[in-house]
Amino acid sequence: MVHVPFSDWTLGKSLGVDEAICGTEDERNRAMVGQLVKWVEELTAERKPYATALGASKFLWLTTYFGREVVDETAFQVVPLLPAPPGPILPSGLADTEWSIMDGITLGATMYYVREHRSADPTLHFHELVHIVQYRLLGIEKFLDIYVQEHTSRGYRANRLEQMAYSAEAAFNRGKTFKIAPILRHHLHQCGWI
Ligand SMILES: [Zn+2]
Repeated sequence: MVHVPFSDWTLGKSLGVDEAICGTEDERNRAMVGQLVKWVEELTAERKPYATALGASKFLWLTTYFGREVVDETAFQVVPLLPAPPGPILPSGLADTEWSIMDGITLGATMYYVREHRSADPTLHFHELVHIVQYRLLGIEKFLDIYVQEHTSRGYRANRLEQMAYSAEAAFNRGKTFKIAPILRHHLHQCGWI
């Protein structure tokens, strides 16, 4: 009898038990991302009819940075609480995130959510639109996969998808005018994601 603590992840290996009984970590992550994608798609279908079209809002001028197509295809919803995935499909790294203190979240390539108290803040809309463009360039599945991996291994602020959004946001706040898509494409390529 080999005594191995149950908390030891090598338990299966040391007893010669096939790890695939519960799937490898990769398989589990893929399944979780699949569930997240499904949740985002269902949420979008449910909420988008009631959302505000960005192109018909006072933020139409964001076309300067994001282009007409992105603005026309994007909608946002002002909410008291940001939508959060049901507990069981929330990745462990993200489960630690305090959702209630976040002010905005982009879920999918066409929709984001902002909390009431910051709904008039152009910087927040700008930040979420950077994520919209990342979703468009990566695809929903790849975005969520990378986001979860980055969040789990580096944390929120060092997540490279967030770093891109915060650095673009800082340039925007300094009053610079630029097109975001080529910059993001360059960074995503440098990270080896596209
Ligand atoms: Zn962000």
